[in-house]
Amino acid sequence: MDWIMDNRVELINIAYLIAAVCFIVGLKLLSSPATARRGNQIAALGMAIAVVATLFMPGMQNIWLILVGLVIGAVLATFPARSVKMTAMPQMVAIFNGMGGATAALVSLVEFQHRANVGRGEIVSIVLGLIIGSISFAGSMIAFGKLQELISGRAISYPNQRQVNAIIGVAVVALGILLVVLGQAGVSYLLIVVLFLTALVLGAAVVLPIGGADMPVVIAVLNSMTGVAAALTGFVLNNQALIIAGILVGASGAFLTLLMARAMNRSVSNVLFGAWGAAAVGAGSAAAGAAPELPMREATPEDAAVPLAYAEKVIIVPGYGLAVAQAQHAVRELAETLQDRGVNVRYAIHPVAGRMPGHMNVLLAEANVPYDELFEMEQINEDFANTDVAIVVGANDVTNPAARDDPGSPIYGMPILNVDQAKQVYVLKRGRGAGFAGIENMLFHDAKTAMLFGDAKESLSKLNSAVRDA
Ligand code: NDP
Repeated sequence: MDWIMDNRVELINIAYLIAAVCFIVGLKLLSSPATARRGNQIAALGMAIAVVATLFMPGMQNIWLILVGLVIGAVLATFPARSVKMTAMPQMVAIFNGMGGATAALVSLVEFQHRANVGRGEIVSIVLGLIIGSISFAGSMIAFGKLQELISGRAISYPNQRQVNAIIGVAVVALGILLVVLGQAGVSYLLIVVLFLTALVLGAAVVLPIGGADMPVVIAVLNSMTGVAAALTGFVLNNQALIIAGILVGASGAFLTLLMARAMNRSVSNVLFGAWGAAAVGAGSAAAGAAPELPMREATPEDAAVPLAYAEKVIIVPGYGLAVAQAQHAVRELAETLQDRGVNVRYAIHPVAGRMPGHMNVLLAEANVPYDELFEMEQINEDFANTDVAIVVGANDVTNPAARDDPGSPIYGMPILNVDQAKQVYVLKRGRGAGFAGIENMLFHDAKTAMLFGDAKESLSKLNSAVRDA
């Protein structure tokens, strides 16, 4: 026991090293749906090791308060995490991410006040951790409010918004520089509290004008910022595990941001400062409801069953509506019925289908759809042209040909699945509702497209029975 107490700092560092290895291995395993669950478990184990090791740090005080906090946090997080619907997952990511940002900001606030003789280097870390953590917290809360529809999900803009945001941004930078220059002894605590509040306003102000299809990129940016804020806090606290975990989150969030932005054909700065959603809402004839109602051809499950049953190649395109209807099992059952008849069935996964990165992969994996039937957009897009039937299940924006063909469309340039090139298309959706971007989709009015109106799960099971009878 004595030996352990004598060497506990070394033992804690070894525990942190093990935790860091768990994070890295976990992250690696997350890159494939087949190993993602294991990866998550290993990373969680790493975090548990790091948390327990930290409790044994020399000088650790208020241990009971910390344990009570741990229990409250674990209970508050476990229940919603287990019961959250797949469609509400982005909100959950936003709120968890916001908590990380808030924690980094609060630690910075406290350390600035209570630590004796904080050097200039540490003040830089404290100020940056405070600013980035506060922006990430406030931005995540606005993203949560938008996704949960507590506030409008569309871009919220007002005249001179960019100028106002720029002024708040300059104020934050100026206050930060002032704090670093004056040093701990030279400033009153009030100044750092003012910086904290101004950075919160900035976080909210920057996310408010973002809406529409840009939300996934925003969440990835905020996630990356929380990672950076945590790493900075790690420098302040001299905690290696926090530094490594923060850098991993920051780097992976940054990569995800770039990948998502590329999938939507938008630059990150355009997403953050372009108020794209506002453009989408007011986008002339392309906006939903602005155009006169165009005709759509309706089909019954029996109409669709025959071409499907006798098709050689079928591609299924899942979208957000599949998640809403919880139709992942029904779609797998239809695919199996078709495969039993010798049809080649594949799934085309658009990188931003659904409401969060990887949404469709997670849903389909949950329903035991084999991974080798899932194809990324680049892998399958050329095959639509020699596909007999494409079935679109609750997808809309990711199939909209306007993104490819109409320079006037607000989503012009976003890569899409070339569903319109298939020989026949069946679209399963409830009615004439628009997708997330709120714009008309000419695919639904194409002569080779037929609409199967109804909830996706019900339509799929009717279609399944009809194919069996065909
Ligand atoms: P969309 O949001 O474009 O369209 C979904 C469609 O599903 C709607 O048109 C709706 O039509 C239909 N639908 C809704 N409920 C049901 C139901 N129960 N049964 C059948 N159909 C239903 O989805 P996509 O997946 O095509 O595109 C995703 C959009 O979300 C993109 O614009 C993307 O940029 C954005 N986004 C993506 C994120 C991500 O990370 N993946 C995050 C945030 C936004 P109807 O009402 O008529 O049924």
